[in-house]
Amino acid sequence: MTDNNSFNSSPATLYIVPTPIGNLGDITQRAIEVLSSVDLIAAEDTRHTGRLLSHLNIGTRTFALHDHNEQQKAQVLVEKLLEGQSIALVSDAGTPLISDPGYHLVNQCRKAGVQVVPLPGACAVITALSASGLPSDRFSFEGFLPPKSKGRKDRFLELAKVERTCIFYESPHRIMDSLADMLDVLGAERQVVLARELTKTFETIQGLPLGELIPWLEEDANRIRGEMVILVHGHREDSSEELPDEARRTLSILTKELPLKKAAALTAEIYNLKKNALYKWGLEHLD
Ligand code: SAM
Repeated sequence: MTDNNSFNSSPATLYIVPTPIGNLGDITQRAIEVLSSVDLIAAEDTRHTGRLLSHLNIGTRTFALHDHNEQQKAQVLVEKLLEGQSIALVSDAGTPLISDPGYHLVNQCRKAGVQVVPLPGACAVITALSASGLPSDRFSFEGFLPPKSKGRKDRFLELAKVERTCIFYESPHRIMDSLADMLDVLGAERQVVLARELTKTFETIQGLPLGELIPWLEEDANRIRGEMVILVHGHREDSSEELPDEARRTLSILTKELPLKKAAALTAEIYNLKKNALYKWGLEHLD
């Protein structure tokens, strides 16, 4: 059912308000109404949010609520809410709480009986998934990867047999190291999509087996600029056991003269098999 009365200013309410992840046109009508009508906006970075508010001609007061002060300041905001003020929570971009501050505030509000009203809106993980071409019926959002190689490999090991699409946030200065660790653990055949600069001028969504994606990214430094989401196809049961002996024999003969990728493609054509399964078998069984 549709409710055209999109916003009735009710006191003692915390509104969770997504903001654009690039394209300013992605702010919703309801978000503008809430931001204009509340008593206070709790923002991750008041200067950053100030620029959005002045673009929207909104003069509502702001209050800083970020990772370093959230636990302590959340209580101050809960008290304001209990006094009857209405507050909107925003982060720098996208949906608050999604790899952004807000968890402690929402948790404390709900414990104190304050109404929490979420607005739907921009979120990089959902935007990326919707265009990735990877299975979207079940997925797992994994946030940012650990900063060190050992931590990342442990995380990939933990996820190696997970059949759901796994989604990570990553920064440009760590992307190549993270993909190298992923290659070590998940292998060259795992399908990976890199969704970069979503909703912005240089938006790029590229999906390839990891063994091909890494060289493609290495070809041009612009391909790893900006903000990015990594989406990884879930684990698929190994089908190499089902490869006919004849196909395995052909593949091993062809690899004496050809690179494995080419040999796997030709063998796949001859026997009407999946080239990925042959390639994977070749990686595991041939020198
Ligand atoms: N709360 C945000 C959301 O709803 O998506 C995420 C905030 S998190 C601090 C920032 C990360 O989100 C970036 O490092 C990047 O991984 C991802 N991200 C944000 N905007 C993006 C965009 N326009 N394109 C691709 N990834 C983006």
